[in-house]
Amino acid sequence: MTMHTTTNSQLTVKTTAAPGNVLKRQLDELVAYPKRDFPRTASGIYVKTHHHLVYDMDAPCWVCGIRHSTGGALETHHYRFEWAAQFGLDLGKVEADFPALTDRQKLAEWVDSEGNMLVLCAAHHRGKYTGIHEITYPAWLLQRYEGVQFQFIDQHAVPKAHTELLALGDSHPHGP
Ligand SMILES: [Zn+2]
Repeated sequence: MTMHTTTNSQLTVKTTAAPGNVLKRQLDELVAYPKRDFPRTASGIYVKTHHHLVYDMDAPCWVCGIRHSTGGALETHHYRFEWAAQFGLDLGKVEADFPALTDRQKLAEWVDSEGNMLVLCAAHHRGKYTGIHEITYPAWLLQRYEGVQFQFIDQHAVPKAHTELLALGDSHPHGP
């Protein structure tokens, strides 16, 4: 693999000119969700959660560290359970891991709360080849921890922060 590093006035960008062993695979997934009325509008809890994390706290993308204040388009990802999935969950199993979630109402409120939310930039949330909704978890995770000499996943389409950042100070240091 040949790695070139180019530097502009504000940050360093790595680009892969001649990738070596690139594994290409196509995910074929079948998941059923309980029937509900779709599309739903965002709940009041979700709107409040999103605003607090992205604008009040200016939380960084868990993968790349970009923030709203540094030019990122920050989104909030339901990282334990998607909203639609809650209706198919076994409450006893959920409560075993999350003791405070003792009924469906508490679960519904938690699903849209900060405890179930991961802040991600648009690229690391929904981007083709980079988003948690678009690639497998093992591949997606590598983007946070990759070294300076090797790039697992091409990041050329990922917006960069105005100033170089480390993904520090996030609310989920141990990840999803
Ligand atoms: Zn990101």
